[in-house]
Amino acid sequence: MACEENISRFKNIAENFEAKTPHVHNLNCTKCGSTIELSENIAFVECSNCKANLVNLNAYKFQEIQPTGIVPFQISKAKAIQIFQNWIVEGIWYDADLKKVSIIHNLSAYYVPFWSFNAQTDSVWTGYSGKYVKKKLDKSELHNMDVVWKLKIGTYSHNFKNLLICASTHFLGKINHLGPYNLDNLKPFNFDYIVGWDSSAFDRDMNESFEEFKKNMNQYIQTKCEAKLKDDTFKDLAIQTFYSNETFYLILVPIWECNYFYKGKLYNFVINGQSGEIQGTKPISKSCLLFLIIIFLLLFGLFLLILL
Ligand SMILES: [Zn+2]
Repeated sequence: MACEENISRFKNIAENFEAKTPHVHNLNCTKCGSTIELSENIAFVECSNCKANLVNLNAYKFQEIQPTGIVPFQISKAKAIQIFQNWIVEGIWYDADLKKVSIIHNLSAYYVPFWSFNAQTDSVWTGYSGKYVKKKLDKSELHNMDVVWKLKIGTYSHNFKNLLICASTHFLGKINHLGPYNLDNLKPFNFDYIVGWDSSAFDRDMNESFEEFKKNMNQYIQTKCEAKLKDDTFKDLAIQTFYSNETFYLILVPIWECNYFYKGKLYNFVINGQSGEIQGTKPISKSCLLFLIIIFLLLFGLFLLILL
């Protein structure tokens, strides 16, 4: 299990965080001795001369916080291709032809850095809960009803565990629906895991990551307090939250990524390398789209006929 660190260390480093551009540095191949140029935040490279697997031990030292845990790949390349092939023709709007799209050379595997945050939160909330009175009316007549307001006060506590925040600018926004990672399988970080896979140090602004963590917690707390407060409706909800036992660690999680062309257009998808969950863009079949338009026009015509 990865060891957690106190959040004050994170905040201190975040204060002076500047998104450094990694320098190019030289690594000597341990097998043939040739010199390889690589970006200092890249952790794994293959020797261009003898194809030996080389690990750049300095890759994570480039940032002050180094990964302590890693979720190993469970989805092989063959399995990832199969997941893609099943997904690409799913639904009635996609050509069966899509199954033939070859992605084998465009599919890349990455160990992506994520912050895992923990915190205990204790909140006190106040607000007015509202009850509609008068007989049941439909929604358009809501404004005709009286609302009886009642002041309520309450508390809500929650222990956030392993709230994952993406620490890579490259994957930011691309992986929102990739599903959770099961951290029961988290292994202590070891360079042996990254041999053969692309992996790099975190490069996203730490303050931004921390803000996202707080925003996620507060949204969750807000929803829970709203549910506790409201009868039919509510207003003036105010929440005061106290945070304690805040800790964090940096982990690497597995992701497959692919950019592929289909009929001259670029599409992209990503796969959760642990669960196999897939997310991305795919080409809609033109014949299906045409069919949909024709159906729509027919229905529209029918509608006009009825009106006349
Ligand atoms: Zn070599």
